[in-house]
Amino acid sequence: MEAKERIANSLKFATDTKVFEMGQGVAALAPKVFAELFPGRKGVIVADVNTWPALGEKVEALFAAAGNPVEKYIIDKQEFHAEWKYVEMVDKVVEGDFAAAKAIENDENHVEADAKQAFREPSDKNYILISVGSGVINDLCKLCSHHHGQQYLTLPTAASVDGYSSFGSSISYQNAKQTFTCPAPVAIIADIDVIAAAPKEMTAAGYADLAAKVPAGAEWMVADLMAAEPIIPPAWHMLQDYLDDFLSNPAGVAAGDPKAVADLFEGLTLSGFAMQAARSSRPASCCDHLFSHILDMTHHRFKGKLQSHGFQVSIGTLTMCAVFDELFKLDLTKLDVDAAVAAWPTLESEQQRALAIFKNFPAPDLGYTQITMKYDAARNVRLQLNVLKDKWPAFKKALQGQVWPFAKMQEAFRIAGAPYDPSQIGVTRQMLKDMFPTVQLMRFRYNVLDLAKRGGFYDQIVEPVFAAGGAWDLAKEK
Ligand SMILES: [Zn+2]
Repeated sequence: MEAKERIANSLKFATDTKVFEMGQGVAALAPKVFAELFPGRKGVIVADVNTWPALGEKVEALFAAAGNPVEKYIIDKQEFHAEWKYVEMVDKVVEGDFAAAKAIENDENHVEADAKQAFREPSDKNYILISVGSGVINDLCKLCSHHHGQQYLTLPTAASVDGYSSFGSSISYQNAKQTFTCPAPVAIIADIDVIAAAPKEMTAAGYADLAAKVPAGAEWMVADLMAAEPIIPPAWHMLQDYLDDFLSNPAGVAAGDPKAVADLFEGLTLSGFAMQAARSSRPASCCDHLFSHILDMTHHRFKGKLQSHGFQVSIGTLTMCAVFDELFKLDLTKLDVDAAVAAWPTLESEQQRALAIFKNFPAPDLGYTQITMKYDAARNVRLQLNVLKDKWPAFKKALQGQVWPFAKMQEAFRIAGAPYDPSQIGVTRQMLKDMFPTVQLMRFRYNVLDLAKRGGFYDQIVEPVFAAGGAWDLAKEK
């Protein structure tokens, strides 16, 4: 299937996005798309000091040439993160108060306002946001448009994340990374000339974020088999049917080859559409992303810098591929279901375990609330393990068709320019090992570690990853 056909098919299931243009030079379509979607409305470009020269300036000229000049708001910072302060800033941009926006941007001692008070009545006097930038600018524009009951147009400048086309914005608020619910952009215009010229690390990060859908898909298969979270066919097929193809040219990704970058960007976009179709992040992430969330929540830095989402996710993805490698070594047709059920802890003891593990975590109640949501009574565990035991030979084969071996994924990351060893993002192997109990418990979503806990083979799939000959052999710490 050609890209155009795939995208048209997926748009049918994407609930928020109506227009997706991708190709070399398609930025030229922006004024026309804007005029059709937002007749009579004023627009404002939101960019930063890097994305303004990369694309913003050109978009401004295109709108002027089309007879519909737009305003601009350029964030003057070299490095900034999706923090609530900048949400307040872009809210002012929507309302046309650019001076107030600048004052918030430059306020070093800004006190965060109440997120619940950010909503306003829609008004035709407000500006429609034209996001020109990477994930952070897009997330800000997404949430601020929602605050004002309006839609927006996005022109991505890098294939760095799958968040362009997903609903929800990931913003730091009150010292914790939080996902605020808000619709995906109504229109995405992805100019491959611009995206292919983005800094190499950003494209490599996007490659890793897309590759995460390999183990994440396998964990969705596990949740499906265990009747915990059934696979939603349209959301599955729109991405997973082509995922290996989209990931097949890491060298092209590293070289900024337009075709390879277009494939990568399409994959990331379809991942967002799959999330729209599923109304959840299940199609795009599982444990692979949770390692990254822990690093975010603990403000992990390497050489003084926060690490990109994709770079953190690359290590989580490799780690989960290694876990699956170990799982495939087990013969679960010999599983002793009676013994596993007899050893299954009560909810109370799981809650106590969660409280102990999360005691010094920035969100001490998180494990408790999540395990309470996903705990299964012993009779359900028995049913799940019987299904697993009966279906293991065929299910193992299906999983092996989904997950890449650790060695293959590591080589692809090395070629793409993404991290292939935790030391490259300042994380030790011991740190990764220590994160496992938190990863298992920090999300209500049923994951492969939950399955292993139920079956009593958790240690058999986690310990060998860090043992002699394992993917992250602790003795070979770099
Ligand atoms: Zn991601």
